[in-house]
Amino acid sequence: MSHPKYETVIGLEVHAQLSTLSKVFNADSTEFGNMPNTNICVHTLAHPGTLPRLNKKVVEFGIKIGLAFGSNLARFQYFDRKNYFYPDLPKGYQTTQDKTPICRGGGLKIKLKDGVEKFINLTKIHIEEDAGKSMHLEGSSDSLVDLNRAGVPLVEIVTEPEIRSADEAYAFLTEVRKLVRYLEICDGNMEEGSMRCDVNISLRPWNESEFGKKVEVKNLNSFNNVRKAIELEYERQSKILDAGNEVLSETRTFNTVDLKTYSLRTKEDLNDYRYFPEPDLQPFTLTEEWINNVKKLMPALPNELYERFTKKYNLPDYDAGVLTDTKEIALFFDDLCQKTKHYKQASNWMMGPVKSYLNELTLAIKDFPVSIEKLAEVIELVESNKVSNTVAVQKIYPEMLKNPSKTAIQLAEEMNLIQESGSDFIKPLIESVLASMPEKVKEYKAGKKGLLGLFVGEVMKKAQGKADPKKTNLMVIEMLEG
Ligand code: ADP
Ligand code: MG
Repeated sequence: MSHPKYETVIGLEVHAQLSTLSKVFNADSTEFGNMPNTNICVHTLAHPGTLPRLNKKVVEFGIKIGLAFGSNLARFQYFDRKNYFYPDLPKGYQTTQDKTPICRGGGLKIKLKDGVEKFINLTKIHIEEDAGKSMHLEGSSDSLVDLNRAGVPLVEIVTEPEIRSADEAYAFLTEVRKLVRYLEICDGNMEEGSMRCDVNISLRPWNESEFGKKVEVKNLNSFNNVRKAIELEYERQSKILDAGNEVLSETRTFNTVDLKTYSLRTKEDLNDYRYFPEPDLQPFTLTEEWINNVKKLMPALPNELYERFTKKYNLPDYDAGVLTDTKEIALFFDDLCQKTKHYKQASNWMMGPVKSYLNELTLAIKDFPVSIEKLAEVIELVESNKVSNTVAVQKIYPEMLKNPSKTAIQLAEEMNLIQESGSDFIKPLIESVLASMPEKVKEYKAGKKGLLGLFVGEVMKKAQGKADPKKTNLMVIEMLEG
């Protein structure tokens, strides 16, 4: 789509499952992957006479996400009942925040491939409970219901219709996932359904100020499917508009098997959920004290660390992006920078040898065997010219991984890898190399200066990594020309 005919307008509704241990209105476990219908008690099953009780942690997580997005936190809040019938909803209503969402406004900055930055505003974030899950097994006409998920806390993050392409939607979701993971309020796994997204999309002619009729696509279970759904809807809706017809305002579902969207229901049959305030739960207020206490628990956020890495440590944008991708790596790197001032070298080590080791063994940084101090030492060893970078990466580092208790310098000494800076060591090597190539020396002296690299290379080989390349270079020139 290099020159699309229409402008795409997108608003996202992202559901993030909050990683509290228990459900939002009762003490049932929220653990994922248990046998169906085991995380359920009379409360989840909505037996008559049971009463909800708000999990305070859920509100704390709501405050955290609001602070992270820079939203306005509602001081006065209550829950509403959203009434509808569905087999996976035993109460007959979903408890949600309709009139008093915990957050209004705020947003986040996305970075696009061409380096352009854009701020996406949020409409609101509200707290609600998840429903159970209906399952339809292959070859069976029965529907099965698993209520383990019923009552698991969610926040729904709603954006303004400010997203303009599949790339922007992708970038926004990536940032949201990064943020909730940094905050440790949601694991962000789309495959396990802990982050889900509905896409609202409409098209309009360029220069048109009114929005077109929107279609909502549900059931998207990966970032790639979000992209795919937007592309498919562009195709489908643009054909309708090209033919001079109106797009029908409807809800469509994304079929993850054939990767197409299908109509579920039209918006014309407007749902009437008969919202009213939940009488069994007290309204509550966020006190300044509560908000301030949560502020104290806030971790460093990805954009703050990015700023620090680019401004204080002077790293290129690329490095800062890679290093802030996960909080664990970012904090490890930040600690490393307290032990060495060679920030760019430290970044190279993180993005190169450290990451490849972790990737190879699919380990998390918390399981990295070498301590931050020892990693800083090997960087210092290179920077003080005691070993070359190649020797450090290829010879010392693998030994450090095997012997995490030894220091880099101990290993370098044991393996006899310390660079000999003295001329006494290098001089005889140069002499023997030059003596072995009299023809080349003649050519060099006759003006073929490019041969210098050859001589130096030979000397380095003989020195088995123990000669400092810069110094060797100078000494070879001196001996050839002196
Ligand atoms: P609804 O009443 O259908 O739920 P809302 O106004 O609550 O619609 O908006 C839901 C989502 O749809 C929001 O993310 C919003 O930004 C987005 N949205 C609203 N209008 C449009 C439009 N014309 N095109 C694309 N997205 C839209
Ligand atoms: Mg809505």
